Amino acid sequence: MVKFLNLHSVNARFESQFKEAFQTFLDSGQYILGQEVDRFETDFASYCGTKYCLGVSNGLDALTLIFKGLIALGRLKENDEVLVPANTFIASILSLKNVGLKPVFVEPDRTTFNISPIEIEKHISAKTKAILVVHLYGQLAPMEKIKSIADRNDLVIIEDAAQAHGAETSTGKKAGNLSHAAAFSFYPTKNLGALGDAGAITTNNDELASVLKKLRNYGADAKYSFEMLGANNRLDEVQAAFLGVKLKYLDSDNLSRQKVANRYLSEINNPKIELPFYDGSKSHVFHLFVVRTNDREGLKKYLEACQIQTMVHYPIPPHKQKAFTEFVSLELPVTERMHNTVLSLPMSPVLSEIEINEVVKCVNAY
Ligand SMILES: *Cc1c(COP(=O)(O)O)cnc(C)c1O
Repeated sequence: MVKFLNLHSVNARFESQFKEAFQTFLDSGQYILGQEVDRFETDFASYCGTKYCLGVSNGLDALTLIFKGLIALGRLKENDEVLVPANTFIASILSLKNVGLKPVFVEPDRTTFNISPIEIEKHISAKTKAILVVHLYGQLAPMEKIKSIADRNDLVIIEDAAQAHGAETSTGKKAGNLSHAAAFSFYPTKNLGALGDAGAITTNNDELASVLKKLRNYGADAKYSFEMLGANNRLDEVQAAFLGVKLKYLDSDNLSRQKVANRYLSEINNPKIELPFYDGSKSHVFHLFVVRTNDREGLKKYLEACQIQTMVHYPIPPHKQKAFTEFVSLELPVTERMHNTVLSLPMSPVLSEIEINEVVKCVNAY
């Protein structure tokens, strides 16, 4: 049986280091915003190359806090339009709805699945104030082009980097350091995953970092002094301790993912299956390996019978979700077609040669 993602195996590699980190945490007697969060924030900021990192409760809260912060600073206001990929995980959209911003859905590029700069230009109006970029499946969005559009139209760019920890541009700049502020999720399945919920925000902006530090902790500027209306969006000490262990292995894990992807790309040669775009660089960290096929359900069932687990990311696009009745009449054909044809093959840094061989053999025999 080839699992889609064997999280137990992913984390078993670090068992003794986790136990040590847990003992240090336990001995400290400090469970909230202590030395572990401090240390992880320093390490992750340094990894991403940003001035600041703030640990927060999860990826959705990271995104929501960034928008709350931009509103508090007067950079955005309620009802401003924010361009966002139509084909993303629902959290990207929820973060905008949560603070009264208006998501405007933009179709993806047909080759990369990432937000299309040409489509971005078509949707810019007088009300457009920001672009929320998602590095979908682990592949960096075309930031150069998006930056030039944003500069020309005075738009602020935010990254949803929840799937792209460690992805880097040709000049070595990392996801999280390619915009005004970036949101990371450390949900257990992500390339850098905690043993529970966790997230972070990275930014180089002094003002935003200072506001976000308050907002994530009840709006407090000092103990029991509340300057703003905040919430409890803090990162747990114990998760920060575990993340600190795993951060050291993020680059080698991403390299392992790229190796799996390269094998799939060079060895899968079934004309019924369309392989994902990959330029061979470090700009894609393969959070997911997503193929397309006309008979997605057929391929999924066939692989199940071969004892190979697959998943669909995602079966229903945000604008077709029941939670969002206001978007139901939107027509987004590229996005809709994508959601009907995509299938994610097993992908992780712990996939064995035997498992990769099995996937290649079965997909080719389909
Ligand atoms: C996982 C994910 C999130 C949300 O992260 P949580 O930690 O689960 O809240 C947001 N955006 C994208 C693109 C994601 O993949």
